[in-house]
Amino acid sequence: MAFDGWLLARQKPFYVLSLAQKRRAALSETFQRHLDEIEDRILKACQKAGRSERPELVAVSKRQSEDRIEAALASGVRIFGENRVQEAQERWSERRSVYPDLKLRLIGPLQSKKSEDAVALFDTIDVLDREKLCRTLADAIQKLGKAPDILVQVNTGEEPQKSGVLPSELSDFIDRVCPDYDISPVGLMCIPPADEPAGPHFALLARLAERHGLTQLSMGMSGDFETAILYGATHVRVGSALFGARDS
Ligand SMILES: *Cc1c(COP(=O)(O)O)cnc(C)c1O
Repeated sequence: MAFDGWLLARQKPFYVLSLAQKRRAALSETFQRHLDEIEDRILKACQKAGRSERPELVAVSKRQSEDRIEAALASGVRIFGENRVQEAQERWSERRSVYPDLKLRLIGPLQSKKSEDAVALFDTIDVLDREKLCRTLADAIQKLGKAPDILVQVNTGEEPQKSGVLPSELSDFIDRVCPDYDISPVGLMCIPPADEPAGPHFALLARLAERHGLTQLSMGMSGDFETAILYGATHVRVGSALFGARDS
């Protein structure tokens, strides 16, 4: 089994390893070092914010190599974020049975026709952003008898090219639209505009969540997760700072 190979690569002395094993051992060490650094920065941000409860680290594995995914698993990482349903199916469907404690989150835009696949695979869907998706998700939940946690994505920067419910329309969406489909979101998610300080967007998201009594706040990426923690993030989504740059 792949997992044994990884453990072995880390336990044997370096000189007895094959070339492939050496490569794995090196990748595994690099990943572990990145993970330790991020965990340390998370801890420091929590201290700075006076928080006792640490946010969950979601390892964003989209467009990363199989080798790096295996390194993450060997380091004990079990919460992963993906932004495409099909890529996530290919990567995770079979691994589910090897790692029963996996938690998968969909963090990229969801086409309504992919709703059933998404409900089947993911534990959490961070990106509910429109009424049509409420309908297709509700249908899928009904059909599969399985209900992932759902977060509403908010377009805090009101950017035309970005998905997410506008802040001014959030109350209607949560109080009227979602209940129509029997969907009870557990939190909010945002991606601040790339060219603005992220803090005010995180603050807005936290305020909106509080107003609606929602507990999960999925916010913060490699470049701004510490800021997000200051504003109360419960889930930070870190990709490149953990795995290294993505294949484009
Ligand atoms: C890719 C992605 C991330 C991770 O981005 P990094 O900058 O690599 O940490 C987080 N959230 C979403 C929604 C993403 O699409």
